[in-house]
Amino acid sequence: ICERDGWIWHNGDWLPWREAKTHLLTHTLHYGMGCFEGVRAYDGPCGAHLFRVAEHTRRLRDSAHALDMPLAWTAEQLIDAQRECLSRNGLTNAYLKPTVYFGAEGMGLRAQGLTTNVMIAAWDLGGYISSEAASIGLRALTSSWARHHVNISLCRAKTNGHYVNSMLALNTAIKAGFDEALMLDPEGYVAEASAANVFLVRDGVMHTPEITSCLQGITRDSVIRLARDALGIEVQERRITRDELYTADEAFLTGTAAEILPLRELDGRRIGAPSREIAKDSLTARLQRLYRRVTSGELGDDLGAYRDWLTPAP
Ligand code: PMP
Repeated sequence: ICERDGWIWHNGDWLPWREAKTHLLTHTLHYGMGCFEGVRAYDGPCGAHLFRVAEHTRRLRDSAHALDMPLAWTAEQLIDAQRECLSRNGLTNAYLKPTVYFGAEGMGLRAQGLTTNVMIAAWDLGGYISSEAASIGLRALTSSWARHHVNISLCRAKTNGHYVNSMLALNTAIKAGFDEALMLDPEGYVAEASAANVFLVRDGVMHTPEITSCLQGITRDSVIRLARDALGIEVQERRITRDELYTADEAFLTGTAAEILPLRELDGRRIGAPSREIAKDSLTARLQRLYRRVTSGELGDDLGAYRDWLTPAP
């Protein structure tokens, strides 16, 4: 991953990919306090564009603020850097990872006298999610690892250290032969997957956990808005129990990288109809088609309201 051509933005400079190195005493490496984003770019009718970069950049700045990491860059500067990251690296269908971290000026939990640094790397996404996963769906296991609690960490912040918990859950599920982990909150209600939000459909109504311990996903927001505004579907944000997922008509995961992925099985229980592929007229498939149109910029007249979700590369 390190030995390749390309450019990485670092504190306002463009570093050649191979030379973008950091010191072993970098504070964030030791204690995990930092925050990051995962942003998608898509190839569209007028070249590459970033999807909902303003919302991702706002969440990054909010995360840094909540963690009390002073960020020297405005949203506009960070958005410009992300746009240029695409053009400099010749990318269209890409994933960007802006990251905020403390420097190597000192050790210790007081975190005094540390610089707050920002880097933005981007890479080609090719086929990150197979079209097979998008039509057949995932098998998940309810994890024994609980998701974060509001009194233990900052659930709104996309903090590097949170992902220890995600990795424990995901890798336990994978070792047990599953594709994904479903994570409950500390009280036992459905929270999210290891790095995606979760939805269920029952009797034509969509339900998703309220954002107490799950990340306030931007794809979650896109899907809620598309369901409500473009499809006229009722969406309820509320506490959900795992048996509601077992007995749902449909369930799916949402995330910037995952997009919309059907959840076909939880803890060995089939969710919804026992067909190999999800039905073309299922709500999951309809949302996938809408989401694809919006992200690829093929908006037409009916989806014109979503044009401001797209920010073109320079
Ligand atoms: N939850 C977690 C824990 C995540 O890491 C992600 C991916 N960022 C999501 C949910 C989905 O968020 P988004 O749609 O903003 O990518």
